[in-house]
Formats: sequence, C-alpha cells, structure tokens
Amino acid sequence: MNSKPIQIKLWGVRGSTPCANDENMRYGGNTSCVQVEIPGEDALLVFDSGTGFRNLGNELHGNGAGHKGRVFITHPHWDHLQGFPFFKPFYDVENSFRIYMPPNGDMGCQEILQGHMSNTFFPVSMDMLEADINCITTDPEPIDFGSYQVEYMWAVHTVPTAIYKLTAGNSTIVYAPDNEIMLGDRKDVHDFRKEFISYVKGADLLLHDSQYNREEYKDRKGWGHSAWEEVVELAEEAGVKRLCLIHHDPDKDDDTLDEVNREVQKRYASKFEHIGLAKEGQVISLDPPDPFLALV
Ligand SMILES: [Zn+2]
Ligand SMILES: [Zn+2]
Repeated sequence: MNSKPIQIKLWGVRGSTPCANDENMRYGGNTSCVQVEIPGEDALLVFDSGTGFRNLGNELHGNGAGHKGRVFITHPHWDHLQGFPFFKPFYDVENSFRIYMPPNGDMGCQEILQGHMSNTFFPVSMDMLEADINCITTDPEPIDFGSYQVEYMWAVHTVPTAIYKLTAGNSTIVYAPDNEIMLGDRKDVHDFRKEFISYVKGADLLLHDSQYNREEYKDRKGWGHSAWEEVVELAEEAGVKRLCLIHHDPDKDDDTLDEVNREVQKRYASKFEHIGLAKEGQVISLDPPDPFLALV
C-alpha cells in the first residue's frame, strides 16, 4: 500500500493577468497553474497553463528529458494559456504530452491553441513544438487514466469553461478557477448551485475562484467570478474538507489578501480541515487515511 499523500502544488494563483509588482509577491503574480502529484503515477498532471506553467516547465527541463504528462485546460482565456508557449519541455523531441480542453463553439483544443500561437500573436506556432503533443477536445464524461479519473462540469463563466474533478482512489479534488456561483440559475438546465453542491459534495479539496468579496461583486455581476463569502458558504454546505481560494484579483495587494485570509480563518477555520487563500509555491497535502483506523 502506498502511504504517501497526494500533493497539490500551486504554480500560479493569480486571476486575469500576471502582476509582477512588489506588493503582490507574497501571494504571487503568476496566473493559473496547478500540479497534482499522485503517488505511483509518473506522468505529469497539470491543470491550466497560465504563466505559472513556465516555472513548472523550467523545473522539469532542469531535470533532463523523457517527460510525459497530461495538461487539462479549463478554457482559453489568456490567464490560463499564457505560459503554454513558454513551457520548455514542449521543445524537446524526447518528451510527450497530451493536452485536454473542452470545445469552444465549433473550435476544438487544437484550433484554439493554434489560434493562440498564430503568427500575429507569437513567433512560435504549434507545429514548431518538438515534443510529441496531442490535443484532445473533451466531453464532460469521466476519462479513466488508470490511477485516476478526470471529468468536468460546465462552469458559469463568460466562455465555455470546465470545472474539473479528479478522482484518485478515495480522494477527490475539484478545480474551479473561474466560476460565478451567484449567477447560477441556469434556466436551461436547472439550479446551478444545487448541481454544483452535489458535484463537490465531500471533496477532499476544492480549489475555487474567489476574485471578489460580496461588496465588490455587486458591481461585477456577469463577469464570471465569485465572491469568496459565497464560495466558503457553498463549500461548507457541501461538506468539502479542504478549501483553497484561488484566482486572486490582480489589483489586490498582499496586505489586502492578508486581511481576507485573517477574516476567513477567524470565521471558518474550525469548519474545514484546511482553509485559506492560495499562495504561489504552496503545496497542499491530502494526508493518507490513518492505517490504524482501517483496522478498527
Ligand atoms: Zn481566469
Ligand atoms: Zn476566464
């Protein structure tokens, strides 16, 4: 039995645009990128390729070649793609990667990335990447990779966006960097909030968009992001064990985020095994079940 815990490493936790300013350095200025390490799984597993993806690539590149991995992109907004062309392992013929993304209208994963890396925007095109890269346009249904499964549900956002759910053994991680909870009444389906609560029910870890507070949200309805208070209340209602608030507004400096974090701790620390605002470079560990408890 493998007793090492699943580890989640946060390479980029900023929303909307990178912010390389002194006042943002404690929480970090890089945009969305989350790596999950599952014991026994040697292929890289990453969610989103914002600017944090570049730093992950540099670390891998420093360890030589022969890398393989899967990258799940939630949607094609810049803050989730900007690190993609700067990921050094893409430029090594000995590496191989599979890229997954939901469709956007009639465009699939390959077309979206080709557009992002077309000559007008960037000097390197998709076909110039030397690694073996395969783009896969995905449906929400679960895909089984052996040691884990990945599925998604649609977020409430300004473009088609995935909320990924990763299941590995008994552990569940939900990654929702861009999702607007309040505007959740999707009349074409049914009550989004209800659907989402059942989707995240009992999750070991929920990483969720918390770009605004309730006051700020009043002027930002329909922008595709959530107020942190809504997220915490929903997570508590759903029995989520650990809650990590991500996708920080680039205009919020470290002192402001500290203040939110203090408030979050004061009001909700006792309700979760872990709760807090994400910091770039942070590693969250899903502790293994106590082997002695299994004997009882
Ligand atoms: Zn975003
Ligand atoms: Zn977005």
